[in-house]
Amino acid sequence: MSVKLDSSDKIHQVLDDYDYFLFDCDGVLWLGDHLLPSVVETIQLLKSLNKQCIFVTNNSTKSRQDYLKKFAKLGIDGISKDEVFGSSYASAIYIDKILKLSKEKKIWILGEEGIEQELHELGYKTIGGTDKKLIEDGVKFSPDHELLSNLDEKVGCVIVGLTFNLNYLKLSLTMQYLLKDNKSLPFIATNIDSTFPSKGKLLIGAGSIIETVSFASGRQPDAVCGKPNQSMMNSIKADHESLQLNPKRGLMIGDRLNTDMKFGRDGGLDTLLVLTGIETEENVLKLNDGNAPTYYANKIGDLFEYHNK
Ligand code: PLP
Ligand code: CA
Repeated sequence: MSVKLDSSDKIHQVLDDYDYFLFDCDGVLWLGDHLLPSVVETIQLLKSLNKQCIFVTNNSTKSRQDYLKKFAKLGIDGISKDEVFGSSYASAIYIDKILKLSKEKKIWILGEEGIEQELHELGYKTIGGTDKKLIEDGVKFSPDHELLSNLDEKVGCVIVGLTFNLNYLKLSLTMQYLLKDNKSLPFIATNIDSTFPSKGKLLIGAGSIIETVSFASGRQPDAVCGKPNQSMMNSIKADHESLQLNPKRGLMIGDRLNTDMKFGRDGGLDTLLVLTGIETEENVLKLNDGNAPTYYANKIGDLFEYHNK
């Protein structure tokens, strides 16, 4: 059964027990563009205690650079690029380090600029993505569209994440690349969140788009790079090799059971679920021990607020 962090003693214990804290972003630090209470103070407190803070988001529409801007805009200062891991970066690293895809190949993207930026930074060429012509041509779909019968022979990998500019042409082209050469091009999914919260509503997440092209092509992704996949944990460890991150001294904080909590648990870390995002206290209390987070709290700012009581 999960322990509720609702007293000064429990918070002091947590601060003693862990050296590094992995934070999910949306639903933990902020909701959309709205910073949650005592977040800045909590991060300052952790840093003043020499704790390592690492921010891990499944939002593939943004790059790490975009996230640095967002942290600064919301008044969370002093965050550096190596402290931020997004599913766009995790996917780019996967293609480079695990698939070792040649830089001569192109990558077909069904997704947004965040994925393009991270791939370009590693020296890859991309097609699809934010290409304006695909958006314009998609408004009035024609099965005669030239690209449907002229697939780019240089494409060596397909990556699918969330896009706000989804259309039938892009879905169809994605399917064609997934079917190409006897279904042999690697199929990379950024993250499998079925939905994500926005302004009090749930919107369609990357997972729902991935399911669509997966169903149409009869293929499952060869890799899902965001949380809960441990390839994300491995790239965090690899990028912070000098810190020798010991899972027993790390705490994963998030608002979603099937991504954040599973990510922490599978990596051998203790977990803290906050109730400012997707899950409710009622649901947490119903979980059996194997699935229950180690701790839960009303909000992440409670770390600071109880610490100072
Ligand atoms: N995907 C998208 C497109 C989002 O906008 C968000 C949240 O803003 C998420 C996923 C979930 O992100 P996180 O892992 O930071 O909760
Ligand atoms: Ca979240």
